[in-house]
Formats: sequence, C-alpha cells, structure tokens
Amino acid sequence: MDIWHWLLMVTGIDDAGGHWSSFWGGIGSDLGEFAILTVLWRKVNCHAKGCWRIGLHHVEGTPYITCARHHPVHPGSDPATAEEIARAHATAMDQKAAGS
Ligand SMILES: [Zn+2]
Repeated sequence: MDIWHWLLMVTGIDDAGGHWSSFWGGIGSDLGEFAILTVLWRKVNCHAKGCWRIGLHHVEGTPYITCARHHPVHPGSDPATAEEIARAHATAMDQKAAGS
C-alpha cells in the first residue's frame, strides 16, 4: 500500500462519496480554487432550497444539514433555549425507545 492511499484512508477522505475526489482532482488546475470553494460551500450551506445560511444542524435520519431556521426540530429562527434543547432531546429519546 502506498503512502497516498494510506493517507486518504486514515483521513477518511477516500470514502466521502466522490465530493473530495473532485476536490483533490481540482488541485493544480485552473479551476482548483473554485472547485474547493464550491465543495466547501456545498458542505456548509443549508440544504433548504434558496437558503444561503450556514447549515450546522444535521437532520437526524436524513442526509440533510440545515440552518437553525429550517431544522424541523428547531421551533424558530432564534437560538434555542436550554429548555427547548432538553425537550427536543427527550422527544428524540422517546422515538428511539419506541424503536422507530
Ligand atoms: Zn436554511
């Protein structure tokens, strides 16, 4: 095994579903920087259509990542209160216990 494949495996880049392949392929080409920015943006951008906020919240059970406003568990656009977080957690635990 050569060092390059070893590095890809250790860093987890090798099995990231092709996105990072284009990332590495873009290095050294004219489109390199643009490709990097695009890939990074797709990774951090909210998945709700037309939303340009940074997506930080993984929607459990889906491949989606959204901003606070578009997350189904989150009640609104403001930061969640500790109570809301606790309630969301309790709800999630209930669903888990129910074997969903
Ligand atoms: Zn959003």
